[in-house]
Order: sequence, then C-alpha cells, then structure tokens
Amino acid sequence: MNRFTYTRTHSLDETLSEASANGHSKFIAGGTNLIDLMRVNIERPDHLVDINHLEINSIEETENGGLLLGALVKNADTAYNEKVQRRYPLLAKAILAGASPQLRNMATNGGNLLQRTRCYYFYDTATACSKRDPGTGCGALHGYNRIHAILGASDHCIATHPSDMCVALTALDATIHILNRDGKRSMPIKNFHRLPGDTPHVDTNLKQGELITGIELPPSNLMQHYQYIKIRDRRSYAFALVSVAVALELDAGVIKDVRIALGGVAHKPWRDEAAENLLKGKPPVERNFRETAEIMLQDAKGLQYNHFKIELAKRAIVRALSEARDLTPPEYLHCYTYNRHHQL
Ligand code: SF4
Repeated sequence: MNRFTYTRTHSLDETLSEASANGHSKFIAGGTNLIDLMRVNIERPDHLVDINHLEINSIEETENGGLLLGALVKNADTAYNEKVQRRYPLLAKAILAGASPQLRNMATNGGNLLQRTRCYYFYDTATACSKRDPGTGCGALHGYNRIHAILGASDHCIATHPSDMCVALTALDATIHILNRDGKRSMPIKNFHRLPGDTPHVDTNLKQGELITGIELPPSNLMQHYQYIKIRDRRSYAFALVSVAVALELDAGVIKDVRIALGGVAHKPWRDEAAENLLKGKPPVERNFRETAEIMLQDAKGLQYNHFKIELAKRAIVRALSEARDLTPPEYLHCYTYNRHHQL
C-alpha cells in the first residue's frame, strides 16, 4: 500500500476543493471495494477525502413523483426503505441479491456505482491486465475466462461489471446526479458506465474530482410485475454469472411497457431498447419472451470457458419475464446456483 494523506470534509465545497487540490485523490465513503484494492496496490491514491459527513444521505421525493436516493445512503437502508420497497421493489430485490448483509450495511449507493470488476486477473498483480496497468494486455482473454463478458467486450478487456444494484437502476432508467467545480450535471445511467474499447482502465464517464451526489428514479408503473434473477456459483456472497432485471406493465392482456437489463455479461449493465420495443403490444407469452431473448443475445460471443453464458442468459430472460408476468410477492427472492447440469 502506498503512502497517502487523509482528510474528512463537512461541506460539498470543501470536498470539491480537496479533490481538485490533488490530482490523484479519491473519495472514500463505505470503502468496501476501495480499501481492498488499496491493500493489494491496485488503487494507489495520494489523498483520500472522507465524504461520510456530507448531507447527501437521505431518500427524498422528487417534484415529478420519483425518488432521489442520496449517494451516501447505505445499500441496506435503500433496500429496506419503505418507499423503495413499495414503488421500486425491483431495485430493493437486486440490492439484496448482492454482497453480504455486512457489506450492504457499509456500502453506499454512490460507491456501488463505482465498484470495480471482480476479474481474477485484475486482482492478481503478477498477471497482465490493461485495466489495472494500461497497455499490458489481458490475461483473461486466453486464460480462464468463465466469469467474463459475452457482449460488448474488446480484445483489450473482457471484464464484467459486478453490481446488482446497477442492473436494476438501468432497467428503471435512473439518472446519476454529479457535482463538480463548475456546477451540477446529470447523466442517464446507461451513459454512466463504459464499454472497454481500447481504454479499459476507464470504467465510467465520471471525471476526476467529480462527486456523485444522488441517483434519481423517475416515476414508475413497474412495481406490479418485476423480477430479479441472479445466477451464481454459490447461493450467497458471489457475483453473478448472469443476472436479469425485468419489469412489465401489462394492460388488457398485452405488454404496455417492458424493461430488461442484464448483469454479468458485459463491462456495463446491458440493455437493448430495440429488443424491448418489439415486445410492446404483444401478449406476455413464452414464445415472445424467447424471441426477445434471442435478439438481445444475437451479438453475443463466447470464449473458451464462458460460452455457456449465452444460452444461460436467454433462459434467464425468459424465466424472469414469465415470473414477472405471473406473480411477484416482495419476499420472493431467487438466487439460483449454477452448475452445468442445472436447467433453467
Ligand atoms: Fe484485466 Fe479486463 Fe483482461 Fe480482466 S478482462 S485481465 S480486467 S484487461
């Protein structure tokens, strides 16, 4: 671990000044990913700005009938918030599928957006990794790539984005609120995370020194029929091989609105609005769900060890949509364990 300085700030102005005064500073809140990465010398900030005392730690109504989730609200407090559970149960369910209770009690919403990939090679500093050390290559490309991407990858990086929360936020069309020295800006979550291209070390479109202040959820009619399915190698405390967040609005026997977002398959939560649009106006039957799944995965490319994810993702989409259509009591949490004999 490198030597670094530490400051605790108490206002947004002070926070932005501290961050801009040092070109290699990092904000720290829950620290559940950053500290791990610092311990193994992957993250090497010169300066840590502790933002835990900022007043961006509440969940508030927005004027248009949505919710604004403060960046410092803990993941657990978000998932168990009564308004989130009633109006955005898909988000609550996705958060509770992630990490462990202890981590969810520490991790913040802003930090969840910024957590880094769990690619084994990224954490193993003896191997090549262009995300960790730009230009050194990708150990996973011809290595053991079982957990890696099937969509949107490049020859420079095939890592997947690890968050469950972000998959649901993507399905719900969330907006990220950002503060910098010039003022405020906001960004749809679909533009927040990046595909790897030839700059895999850049995970998001957040600039150095910018602070996430909140996540806005627009008003939604998607609280009746939803599902979050997470398929992983063990039943708890594991990252998704494939996850699916879906929500449906049904009207007179046809699909009025539909959202489908995939996790564990790409460098960012994956959504295909053209495929969703093909479902609108159609009856919510398995044949139509499978057709949509085929379209969503039509450009998927499997590698030596992760080819199974393509069919797995298709089946998970069909199953999630079918369950969302039929019944979604809030306590109904699916966490599937995957093995090669498991049939979805
Ligand atoms: Fe690094 Fe990305 Fe390759 Fe993993 S997949 S080794 S994170 S470059």
